[in-house]
Amino acid sequence: MDNEGKSNPFSCGTMKNTAIKRRCIFVVALGILFAIAFKYIDNDKSAYSYVCVENDYNTSYITNAKSEKENLIAYLNTVNNKNLRIEKPTAITVDGLYVVALRSKKDALEALKIMLDKYKRGSIKACFKNDVRLMEVDTPTANLKTIEEAVKDLEGKSRSVTYVVKDNDTLWSISRKFNVTLNDIYNLNPGISERIYPGELLKIKESKPLLTVVTEKKSVYMEDIPYETVTQKDDKMFINDSKVLVRGKTGSKIVTAILKYYNGEIVNKNVINENVVSEPVNEVIAVGDEPLPVTYATGNFIYPVRGHITITSRYGQRWGRLHAGIDIAASIGDPIYAADGGTVIFSGWESGYGYLVKIDHGNGYVTYYGHASKLIVKKGDKVYKGQEIALVGMTGNTTGPHVHFEVRKNGVPVNPQIYLK
Ligand SMILES: [Zn+2]
Repeated sequence: MDNEGKSNPFSCGTMKNTAIKRRCIFVVALGILFAIAFKYIDNDKSAYSYVCVENDYNTSYITNAKSEKENLIAYLNTVNNKNLRIEKPTAITVDGLYVVALRSKKDALEALKIMLDKYKRGSIKACFKNDVRLMEVDTPTANLKTIEEAVKDLEGKSRSVTYVVKDNDTLWSISRKFNVTLNDIYNLNPGISERIYPGELLKIKESKPLLTVVTEKKSVYMEDIPYETVTQKDDKMFINDSKVLVRGKTGSKIVTAILKYYNGEIVNKNVINENVVSEPVNEVIAVGDEPLPVTYATGNFIYPVRGHITITSRYGQRWGRLHAGIDIAASIGDPIYAADGGTVIFSGWESGYGYLVKIDHGNGYVTYYGHASKLIVKKGDKVYKGQEIALVGMTGNTTGPHVHFEVRKNGVPVNPQIYLK
């Protein structure tokens, strides 16, 4: 049994020899270190993929058919073991087009990493929208660029082209000349007419960054939940009238979303979780269902105030002059109602009357409602018998709140009490 311990240095069970024991501890420690290292690679949140895996944009690879982790390990290996590797010039292609060649694959990856890092901050993912590939190339050293130069080339924007229209040019001939579609020209030149004139400037191509960096960030934010409005019919109210029964209240929720950016500009929001903090309260509105009363005259009048009627001053001679109407006692703020259907021909201030409404009933009669505190109708309004037109007040020549009510027949004041029921 002793022999077994000596011949197998990885067996720690039955050792007596301290040298072997030490070696064993070393091996175990090394194992733990490796385990930690791989755990780190597995969970490293700062590690990011060079590969876009979503289906909604072109998949791009740094190297063909390698997983994210393999890429990363390969990358770390190149960084750590550069002395063990034979460096070969490596070209970066974007969407199939050669962009730049660098001294080594490591440099090429570093240049791409710098491009990603520009937008990477706070991202849970960063990759290229473009088809980015690395290719080992045979190229003279003079053609190779430094990482800084390569980054500049990768940042490089495709040139924008503006064209000065010449004699006999048409949009069609220009589109053929630059190999773009008519739609492209229309999109780049909003508001352009079909006829173009010599000397006019036309945008033909727009500058676009060579690389599009796709980043995704997790975002947690509060959002309002709008309330809904429900209506209830009320046959005690006229059509067109409405009354809020319950005020709507906006709710709120905590939203967790993945925001997707192209070169730092948000392009998509994918909500992954919503937590309602407070539910919205529906607004409830009562809507009148009673058909509107007619606004033409019925031929008889009702008192312009409701409740018990107290006439404080009658129609007739008063202090040597005609009191052209009757004064009906009321409290400030009480509604004043139209005595019959008709059209408002005046709603405003008139000397002596204070705030005054005049209604033409279209049958030769006009009624006056004076001393109001507030006017509700305006000139031109059609009103029905009993409609609220103003509020009682004490404006104009008056010693207390009341309604001064007049009836005029063909322009001449008559005693209202003859007509009131
Ligand atoms: Zn009066």
